[in-house]
Amino acid sequence: RIVYLNGEFLPLAEARIPIMDRGFLFADGIYEVSAVLDGRLVDNEAHLARLDRSLGEIDIRNPHTTKEWIGLQTDLIARNGLEEGLVYMQVTRGVAERDFAYPSADTTPTVMMFTQGKRIAANPLAETGAKVVTVPDLRWKRRDIKSVALLAQVLAKQQAAAAGVAEAWMVEDGAVTEGSSSTAFIVTASGVLVTRPLSTALLPGITRKAVLRLAEEADLTIEERLFSVEEACAATEAFYTSASAFVMPVVALDGKVIGDGSPGPLTRRLRAHYLALARGEG
Ligand code: PLP
Repeated sequence: RIVYLNGEFLPLAEARIPIMDRGFLFADGIYEVSAVLDGRLVDNEAHLARLDRSLGEIDIRNPHTTKEWIGLQTDLIARNGLEEGLVYMQVTRGVAERDFAYPSADTTPTVMMFTQGKRIAANPLAETGAKVVTVPDLRWKRRDIKSVALLAQVLAKQQAAAAGVAEAWMVEDGAVTEGSSSTAFIVTASGVLVTRPLSTALLPGITRKAVLRLAEEADLTIEERLFSVEEACAATEAFYTSASAFVMPVVALDGKVIGDGSPGPLTRRLRAHYLALARGEG
């Protein structure tokens, strides 16, 4: 596998970073993930815009223009012959003597990218639907920043893995904030699509935005509001969205069956529409 590190494409085993990298010491960095389908990046400019915004929120200068990022991503995809999967990008504040406050402004950010082959459109789990467990949301208060500090999500995902399910939905004050690496949606008995509104309490999902636009185009009723675990358990359909799952049907929440226990019709429609969009047919 070929990866990118600070201006160079090199074999994974040769890509090293110094122990004083602030990403390693403080999780002082930002990441972004774009999907690749049929060898092409999906909704990538929105991901790059979010990367730029996240970097700005923590005062790391974006080391590349959008055009440069796309050039590097495209090169990396070609070098790895990636047809379907993910491109991971990470920028940290760079290497400096360990001290909490920012190092001098001339410190060079560390830039790294790698690809991962993954079945996203062709994911068999999307046919049967995913089971989800709820976990407490243990994260900090700026979840709109896509920070590499992911310990709470590591713990959440491990609880899901231990329960033998694909995803954990995080809960705060009785309401579902989002998935550990996805945005949570439900469909109520009256056919209303519900997802939490954007704020600093959750990541502004790029797939979320695209799916809401598709739902709008399909004349669905959308409510951006909080929903509780109880309401989710009583929903007729549920799903989650992310660059790495697209639209993933949820068929059980904390062991309670959602709907008839198979992917709901509205969820399947939105997944099909999103796939068409991702393939450039939308
Ligand atoms: N919420 C969290 C906490 C995430 O980590 C992710 C993706 O990794 C998402 C939502 C989904 O965002 P996107 O659709 O931009 O991939």
